[in-house]
Amino acid sequence: MSIAVIGGGIAGAALAWRLRRLDPDVEITLFVGHHSVRGDATGASGGMVRGFETDAESCLVASESMAELAADPALRDWADYREVGSHYFLEPGSADMEALASIVEARLPGSLTWSAVEDLPGPCPVRGLPEGTVAVVERQGGYFSPHRLRTSMTGELLRSRVEVSQELVTGVLPDGTLQGVDPAHAKGFRAVVVAAGAWTPHLLLDHDPVAGGFRTKAIQYVRCPVAPPGLGAFTDETSGLYGRPLADGGLLLGIPTDRWGVDPDGVGVDPSLIGTLLEVASERLHLDLEPSGVEGFSSSDCYHREPGLALRDLEQGSPVFTFTGGSGGAAKTVLAASRTAAAGLLDRLAAAHPGGSQAQR
Ligand SMILES: Cc1cc2nc3c(=O)[nH]c(=O)nc-3n(C[C@H](O)[C@H](O)[C@H](O)COP(=O)(O)OP(=O)(O)OC[C@H]3O[C@@H](n4cnc5c(N)ncnc54)[C@H](O)[C@@H]3O)c2cc1C
Repeated sequence: MSIAVIGGGIAGAALAWRLRRLDPDVEITLFVGHHSVRGDATGASGGMVRGFETDAESCLVASESMAELAADPALRDWADYREVGSHYFLEPGSADMEALASIVEARLPGSLTWSAVEDLPGPCPVRGLPEGTVAVVERQGGYFSPHRLRTSMTGELLRSRVEVSQELVTGVLPDGTLQGVDPAHAKGFRAVVVAAGAWTPHLLLDHDPVAGGFRTKAIQYVRCPVAPPGLGAFTDETSGLYGRPLADGGLLLGIPTDRWGVDPDGVGVDPSLIGTLLEVASERLHLDLEPSGVEGFSSSDCYHREPGLALRDLEQGSPVFTFTGGSGGAAKTVLAASRTAAAGLLDRLAAAHPGGSQAQR
């Protein structure tokens, strides 16, 4: 059985890595293309990780991913994980805190506490929060390098005889034919998984990506030269500000954009958003910075109408699947999502070809 995975970001690399671990006999070709690795979401990602999310499904996947990372020294090293802790601030009543906290507690015992911000036992690193704001504090959380993790996973794939191709696939037909590659590579895969992040909608030929639920969106960060003391990774839903410290003592800060439908090959920085971000940073972090004193950068991600990195069928009967839709948050869910996707794909192929041995599926 042979499977093509298209996209060498964290989604494609992790999926191929899981497939290889689940079935050492499956033939895998990972097409990584030749886009600048710094231009993709994985290269630009802030890599903030935690267990808590405001909906139960995402919270489960994020908690499982965080638990795997916390428990595996090799993965922590591959990902350069930094456990600086995580704060999440949200409006009271906007999430079922009891249910969400129990999801995290079952996977990361003793990691999460929550209270009204006024009742935090120590000083709150984020200021000016509305009264009654819920503060979710996680000990096991922080950030990692998605770029380093995908590089480590790709290195492991090469060592385990997975073909890593730099050919640029220019399109995928619903029957699984790849365009733009050597004819020997174009046909014959039992499954083709397009895991090309924001490039995915352009690669699906004869298929309407909007009807399929996919859209691209810009994500923009700034690098600040200083960070307030004691600040770990944080997300403040009351203002939109989020960020995390940098290893050099600086700070990475972001605020949501509304730039939908961007071309992943040409996402520029929006200067007006930098101004807005610095105003919020002044209010919430008491950081007074000029636009000239920070460095803005941007990339894009693939969003899905049902957000979350997951294996999705292109259409019934087609050997083409997608593994994208992380919607700006796939770094924190990729470990569990790739495990589920790889197991699901192998099961689907085994069901479609009954009687094949594990090695022949
Ligand atoms: C600025 C920014 C900050 C973020 N911060 C966080 C965070 O703090 N926490 C969090 O959980 N998530 C975060 N995210 C989201 C997370 O990083 C992304 O969801 C994740 O990296 C997406 O990975 P991917 O592999 O799906 O896509 P990508 O990383 O974009 O990878 C897609 C790959 O496909 C390749 N490709 C494209 N076309 C082709 C082709 N024709 N043939 C072969 N290969 C091709 C590209 O070269 C690229 O390498 C952030 C995202 C951005 C952009």
